[in-house]
Amino acid sequence: MQRQNVLGLSRNDLIDYFESRGEKRFRATQVMLWLYHKLVLDFDRMSNIAASLRQVMADELAVELPEVLTVLESKDGTVKWLMKARSGDTVETVLIPDGRRQTLCISSQVGCVLDCTFCATGKQGFNGNLDAGDIVGQVLQACLWLQEHRPNERLSNVVFMGMGEPLLNFDATFKSIDVLRDDLGFGLSRRRVTVSTAGVVPGIQRMCGLTTVALAVSLHAPNDEIRSELVPLNRKYPIDSLLDACRAYLASQDVKATITFEYTLIDDVNDTKSLALDLAKLLRDFRCKVNLIPFNPFPGSSYKRPSESRIYAFHKNLMDNGVRAMRRTTRGADIDAACGQLVGQVNDRTRRVARYREGVNPIFTPTTKIPTSSVIN
Ligand code: SAH
Repeated sequence: MQRQNVLGLSRNDLIDYFESRGEKRFRATQVMLWLYHKLVLDFDRMSNIAASLRQVMADELAVELPEVLTVLESKDGTVKWLMKARSGDTVETVLIPDGRRQTLCISSQVGCVLDCTFCATGKQGFNGNLDAGDIVGQVLQACLWLQEHRPNERLSNVVFMGMGEPLLNFDATFKSIDVLRDDLGFGLSRRRVTVSTAGVVPGIQRMCGLTTVALAVSLHAPNDEIRSELVPLNRKYPIDSLLDACRAYLASQDVKATITFEYTLIDDVNDTKSLALDLAKLLRDFRCKVNLIPFNPFPGSSYKRPSESRIYAFHKNLMDNGVRAMRRTTRGADIDAACGQLVGQVNDRTRRVARYREGVNPIFTPTTKIPTSSVIN
């Protein structure tokens, strides 16, 4: 019998598991405290659980962490792991230390179907979803690494900004968020867990009323023409519908909640003064902040990062026009761990990589029409 990965179970799932075996529900509490507070992964060492029950658990459950294949440490303290999920696929996970914050950037899918023209992950194609256990497992691996290598540091934030589109892997994403948020799990408050989306409108709508985590939306342009070129998904869910969904999400939250709009600045593509002014107009009256990410290059990409003076001017134009904006510092570039540089090793199912080799390459021909309907449904 295939054993179930305990890391993919929320507190309620564990309670159901124990109750269905005639055990008390507090067993779930005990197991979670061992796993996520004491980082003890071996059922045999869970000493407040009777040996007979430990044996049942060992027969039916397993603690299956993704296997760490490589760990790279940047000179700025950023750490990048290549981890092998249970399916055998590999994904990347990045730890970004910043003052007192230790932010972990996790992957939700193996590759990505969305194929944004400026993102290395999309260029790897796609080979499926991670399950909740693989997502929680990335966080647990990072905590184990911190315990061993930087014992004074604690994980403080988790962002779904690694490989993949979390809202196209909705159930596994939110099951893992149950464990991230749970006091018996990683105990992260709602503002310390961020889901970032390229604009999957039905996913944002489903989040309303279901969750209170922070939402980040990859906007990248204030008009549909440029956005559709950068984010092909925009042809299916244009900016108006995306902002409506964002408004609905804000309306479902307490009055202090804000949305972060990510804006990757690409030289001569979306970094002009008039676009900054259009963006300011679009976001006027929105409870939001804009996170500016200077483009991080990767092999094969024809885009360029704007000069410092252009980045500065764009930032200033936004702020002068009433938009809260901050620039995201590039971290871990020496180990290819910066935004958009995560690739893992994807066994592409979509034939996208083969198509590039045959010369149909949206990196070099960004206006190539990509049938978005076939990839989203
Ligand atoms: N699919 C989700 C999660 C990925 S988050 C999303 O699109 O939001 C990764 C963030 O980095 C996104 O805002 C993405 O647009 C941005 N990004 C991707 N490639 C980049 C690159 N080469 N340089 C800078 N930012 C990039």
